[in-house]
Amino acid sequence: MNRPLKNYDIAELKRLDLAHHLPAQADYKLLEDIGGSRIITRAEGSTIYDGEGHSLLDGMAGLWCVNVGYGRDELARAAYEQMLELPYYNTFFKTVTPPPVRLATKIAQKMSVGNPDLQHVFFNSSGSEANDTVLRLVRYYWQLKGEPERNIIISRKNAYHGSTVAGMSLGGMSFMHAQGGPMVPGIEHVRQPYAFNEGFGQDPAAFAQVCVDDIEARILAVGPDKVAAFIGEPVQGAGGVIIPPEGYWPKVEALCRKYGILLICDEVICGFGRLGQWFGHQHYGIKPDVIAMAKGLSSGYLPISAVGVSSKIVEVLKTGGDFVHGYTYSGHPAAAAVALANIEILEREGLVERTRNDTGPYLAKALTRLNDHPLVGEARSLGLIGAVEIVSEKGTNHRFGGKEGTAGPLVRDLCIKNGLMVRGIRDSIVMCPPLIITHEEIDRIVDVIEQSLNEAEPKLR
Ligand code: PLP
Repeated sequence: MNRPLKNYDIAELKRLDLAHHLPAQADYKLLEDIGGSRIITRAEGSTIYDGEGHSLLDGMAGLWCVNVGYGRDELARAAYEQMLELPYYNTFFKTVTPPPVRLATKIAQKMSVGNPDLQHVFFNSSGSEANDTVLRLVRYYWQLKGEPERNIIISRKNAYHGSTVAGMSLGGMSFMHAQGGPMVPGIEHVRQPYAFNEGFGQDPAAFAQVCVDDIEARILAVGPDKVAAFIGEPVQGAGGVIIPPEGYWPKVEALCRKYGILLICDEVICGFGRLGQWFGHQHYGIKPDVIAMAKGLSSGYLPISAVGVSSKIVEVLKTGGDFVHGYTYSGHPAAAAVALANIEILEREGLVERTRNDTGPYLAKALTRLNDHPLVGEARSLGLIGAVEIVSEKGTNHRFGGKEGTAGPLVRDLCIKNGLMVRGIRDSIVMCPPLIITHEEIDRIVDVIEQSLNEAEPKLR
């Protein structure tokens, strides 16, 4: 798109940012020390540009979300036209607007593939809010069923389910639990299926069983009739792109069915094509009762999230009168119109199938090149999400400095210097590019990671 470039006074913006704006998940003192945040001013396709003349290939699709890439005129137009017709109305008090109805119908069509009971959608504005809805919804379901003591939710250590109080409590990140507690009670965290760190060298099927046994042991410890639900991301994203071993998800599903526990999939990252299916659980062939989705739902163009709910649950909700839960922006018409147009792009351009059959396998193959690198312990991916584990000793999972978190940030910073936006999570470099990424851009991602590892090696050794 040929839009005139705006001129920003970057030095002034940085000064004002430090003076007045508190950015997300930041060390405010450190930001001050380094002179403020990088100011991103525009983007096109899979490339972002900062105000100081740098361009970066966006290996993270923003924050795991810009699935259709940047600069989509069609999405801007969908928002504009909806805003002129009806910028806002709510879904409280027996009113609704057309876009959320159409969007819910479209989502139901996608999520019911292989799981015909998944037919209903509740809207929110963020992934965290979606998980707040999930928490209240499943506990309320069991109250209505006459089992109010079934209120324990089992989640995993190192899971990420958001930053609201419910989101961070459902999540399993101990450094988040340590700030601003107390957490929501009644949430238990079990072993994560992180084979490289916790099942190193083990047979994948045996490690899957170890993880599932840990869930079962916790169910038995708290009492099977006290457990409301199990929640998990099909692939843990913010935890470090943890792809569970073969067999893990079907075994977890079987365990939920054995004890009559609801199965919740947090599809906030995995939904809308990331793993090469519309939803991540479809890749694993399981049938959750509830799913949370956000990010790729609108490719981040406007904030919107949703909770997919099975008819089995909705039939029970119908016995309870008002479900007194909802947000001012639940079903926001402009956000819903954009999400609908975004799904139409994913469909029209075949981006989900392309991820499954073309770019996903291409990324997996390109990453195998890194397996020969002396600092790489493992390079893994599924669809268009992947991670490279950095180790101090080839053939082991030992980390530099004898502790986690030394190499990841260093290599990440080198990647950014070399023109690639990725994240460093502990000692891994993670990537999650837009689904429009080309083969050439995938090669560039791998080349820049390799170059950055080469530059990091003498600094680390
Ligand atoms: N759930 C998962 C799996 C996520 O990855 C995220 C965000 O990264 C969230 C929930 C929270 O979403 P939000 O940041 O939109 O609140």
